[in-house]
Amino acid sequence: MSKIYTLMAAEISDKVCELALTANMYLPEDVAELLRKARAAEKLGRAQSLYDEIIENAKLAADKYMPICQDCGMAVLFIELGQDLHIEGGDLEEAVNEGVRRAYREGYLRKSVVRDPLADRRNTGDNTPAVIHWKIVPGSAIDITITPKGMGSENMSRIFMLKPADGAEGVVRSVVETVREAGSNPCPPIVIGVGIGGNFETAPLAAKEALLVPCGVRSPIEYYAKLEEEILREVNKLGIGPSGCGGTVTALDAHIVTKPTHIAGMPVAVNICCHALRHAHGRIEGRG
Ligand code: SF4
Repeated sequence: MSKIYTLMAAEISDKVCELALTANMYLPEDVAELLRKARAAEKLGRAQSLYDEIIENAKLAADKYMPICQDCGMAVLFIELGQDLHIEGGDLEEAVNEGVRRAYREGYLRKSVVRDPLADRRNTGDNTPAVIHWKIVPGSAIDITITPKGMGSENMSRIFMLKPADGAEGVVRSVVETVREAGSNPCPPIVIGVGIGGNFETAPLAAKEALLVPCGVRSPIEYYAKLEEEILREVNKLGIGPSGCGGTVTALDAHIVTKPTHIAGMPVAVNICCHALRHAHGRIEGRG
């Protein structure tokens, strides 16, 4: 029989709170690095100025401990829970929401969640409930990744139920069409998460996971690494540029995550993220 490890629910709340604050105030270095490279590659004068402002904004946010963007997003969490871990002192999901609640209150982060999408759009007042994706994994630790996601870019995301015969060409066409239609709405420069395969509900999740791949890192599968590069080349030909004002670089990066799928289908989900690609990761080991 496996040994059981324990963790207090309050420790999880503390960690989630810390990560939510970090993610909102500090732009990850991999994203910052790509912004600097885009600035260097940019040929258009007004686009260069916009890149300077975006880079300066991220620096000011970190220096002044203020949110990178006024839209502090819905709190999206990917949590890997070790199967030998037992949580004591409270409800696990509530512990995660409590961490989000505290971060958004203590950090004066904008609360953007309404309790019902249509009939009763009253703000819940604390940015909960969070969107939580659980995965049970071997081990005795909990791994938490939080990615606050603004709706400006989420609104511009799409799913295409392609046929296998559409092939790689269909994938590139779907992504380019999505970015072209989005224009300036998702606050470019953008990062593109592409989920290929799965079904109607798992392809978008793969696209969201793709946004968490470190910027500048290509798919470990050569076929998809080349496809990511092709997507980037084609999207950057659109000339949308930072804030949609024209320019050389529209997309900082593109990542593909795939899932096994049905013989008759090839879903393709495109999840766009703005330049405020925020995420933070932490891990807590259980006590034996
Ligand atoms: S899309 Fe991104 S940069 Fe634009 S308002 Fe939303 S969170 Fe902020």
